[in-house]
Amino acid sequence: MKTRIIYGPILSRRLGRSLGIDVIKNSETKKNCNFDCVYCQLGHVDYKIADPKDVKGAVSAKEVIEGIRSYHRNIDDLDYITFSGTCEPTLNSDLGKMIKGVKDVSKHPVCVITNSSLVDKEDVRTNIAGADMVVATLVSGYEETFKAINRPAEGIELENIITGLQAIMNMEKRPKLGIEVMLVDSTIDFPINCTDKEIGRLIEVLMEINPDEIEILTVSRPPAENYIISVSEKRLKEIASRFDEVFGKERVKLVLKGLKRKRSRMKHENTEEEVYDLILRRPCTFKQISASLGIDEQTLKPIIDKLISAKSIIESEDANDKYYKAS
Ligand code: SF4
Repeated sequence: MKTRIIYGPILSRRLGRSLGIDVIKNSETKKNCNFDCVYCQLGHVDYKIADPKDVKGAVSAKEVIEGIRSYHRNIDDLDYITFSGTCEPTLNSDLGKMIKGVKDVSKHPVCVITNSSLVDKEDVRTNIAGADMVVATLVSGYEETFKAINRPAEGIELENIITGLQAIMNMEKRPKLGIEVMLVDSTIDFPINCTDKEIGRLIEVLMEINPDEIEILTVSRPPAENYIISVSEKRLKEIASRFDEVFGKERVKLVLKGLKRKRSRMKHENTEEEVYDLILRRPCTFKQISASLGIDEQTLKPIIDKLISAKSIIESEDANDKYYKAS
């Protein structure tokens, strides 16, 4: 199945209706990333990109700009255009040119979702400077917990990430910075990050970074490792209130499951490819696909059946829902 670099829009718990851009072409590995997080919704891979120079299949700025220009004609009800997908976007050294090009052809705000791994590099910070928003992950203030949960490529250290995030806040021209705190629980003896000790240290580190926003969330799709589970809503609320006390309610967002939006008004060119492109980047339920892409359920059902019979996608269930994901 042919895949395109522009996908969605997806209904994001954080960003609303968001059109996605993937800046590394999908290969036989499920993701192009320098982390292999235990909570990753794209599954586990052994291969991690240790250096941006090792990236294969980097998309060019021209491809992104042409893609957005043509896709853009089909949809106007967007909240964000987001660099994300099956890769870590800061691994593409043309990201800065892409952000500028997208802003030249679109009125919608641009967001970069990053795992924070490369923010200590000045060229990466320069690349993201033109975005309206950067959402950067930070799971722990302790090196061992960070390494256990994010499983970064060799050479990526928490200390450098923290320094890099502080440096973003000190840039003269900078995007709004939101730190995403992804909390996990476990069914086994694993260094989870929702304990009082972990939260206390995270608060100290976040005070040093002083971001514009802090988003607290937990796993909402089947994770890479089956011993990882979501943190209970009760515990999330307790943690959010600790953050509120320190940073103030207006800077802290507790992101709970279930974003309800009207169906997209998107016009379709190739519905089957659009459905596949979405599922490849994000496992979705039937209802989520229908609402994200604006496809009614009777039209969607035969498309899903066809993609399953072609073994392009598979069904995957967790305790609450049935998801479709790339096979
Ligand atoms: S969750 Fe994001 S950062 Fe982590 S492995 Fe998956 S794609 Fe990479």
